[in-house]
Amino acid sequence: MSAPSTPRHRGVHYTLWVIQWMLGISLVAAGALKLSLPFDQAVAMFPWAADAPLLYTITSVLDVLGGIGVILPSLTRIAPRTTVVAAISVVLLMLSAVVFYLLRGEASEIVGNLVLAAAAGVVAWGRWRLAPITSQLPEPPRMTGPLPAATPPAEMKIFQIPTGSYLTRAAFAVAGGSFSQQRPFASTAVLIQHPHGDLLIDAGFGANADAHIDTLPSFRRAPHDLAETADAQLRAIGYDQKKLRGVLLTHSHWDHVSGLDSLDVPIWVTAAERKYAADSQSDRVFQAVSEGHEFHEYAFDGPAYLGFPASFDVYGDGSVVIVPAAGHTTGSVIVFVTLPLGQRYAFIGDLTWQLDGITGRLEKPLMMRILADSDSKQIRRDMGRIISIQDRVQVVPAHDARGYAGIPLLATSAASVA
Ligand SMILES: [Zn+2]
Repeated sequence: MSAPSTPRHRGVHYTLWVIQWMLGISLVAAGALKLSLPFDQAVAMFPWAADAPLLYTITSVLDVLGGIGVILPSLTRIAPRTTVVAAISVVLLMLSAVVFYLLRGEASEIVGNLVLAAAAGVVAWGRWRLAPITSQLPEPPRMTGPLPAATPPAEMKIFQIPTGSYLTRAAFAVAGGSFSQQRPFASTAVLIQHPHGDLLIDAGFGANADAHIDTLPSFRRAPHDLAETADAQLRAIGYDQKKLRGVLLTHSHWDHVSGLDSLDVPIWVTAAERKYAADSQSDRVFQAVSEGHEFHEYAFDGPAYLGFPASFDVYGDGSVVIVPAAGHTTGSVIVFVTLPLGQRYAFIGDLTWQLDGITGRLEKPLMMRILADSDSKQIRRDMGRIISIQDRVQVVPAHDARGYAGIPLLATSAASVA
């Protein structure tokens, strides 16, 4: 969707969509009908087919292709400018047909072609100039003014705990990504140290990650590179897990909860996400690993926060504030963290999988939106909110190792872990 920013622009955008659908369906239907007719019936309907049977077949195929071309690239936003090329081709095809009929003295046949040529002309001009469709989301205004107040205690720190990674093709990671490029997907937990009790954001891969992967539908399996679990890394530095108040989940998908299999701590989750996990058919890892854990449900009883409608302030000092972002799953959240020296982070979970999602305003690829997300509209809304604050806050998509830049590694920070 290009930027339907003003009501007028939105009107043009949706009017063009109606024309595109009508034009596309007409062309596909006409072409398919012509191709499916037995030849004698085709000749009865289109006498010229007897003189030029090959031309008849070719133009029928072109009708179908043109019809697909004026809809599909706009709909998928994969090479969306192809819509303009397809629409211009349809104009040329229809005008050629008009000339052809006129030369044959069959002027009465040209009305339909003229109507289709006009519609295609409107689509070509409209999607080229008036309301182009791009694979990028509209650019929201950047946030200015003060950030929400926070008074994090001086002892507060955060550490990253990478638990492994897996490779995905860029084409499956961000809209417009290439098939030849590989993207490493990180699975990383984050330890928040706070004098009023520590928290982990997500749990990463667990000791039984291989078994968890085996339970997934095939499209969600990928070759994984498993590192030490969060539990093992905490033990390795002699961390006392009694200090953990819980694992705060961005959402309940397996690659964020697998590590709960070896962590004996409460699970911080919203009621909405618990319900999502309980209803899940394709990902039952949370149902398995959460068994026996204490649950700590929280609700968004706090005020609007950085554009999000409500919030939950974990420590009451603004240092860790959770907001609802129910697009990836119906109970997904974003965790904002503010450190004593003023660094701010937005742990956005799987709102986008890669930083390009925010810096380049790119959604997930259409197929993945359908397979992996619950509510694309909500995702676009929340992406807009994060995009508008990206200069003020370090954005950390759960699976992009680049997002964690500057956050010290737990494994090499034993001396500074309290
Ligand atoms: Zn994930």
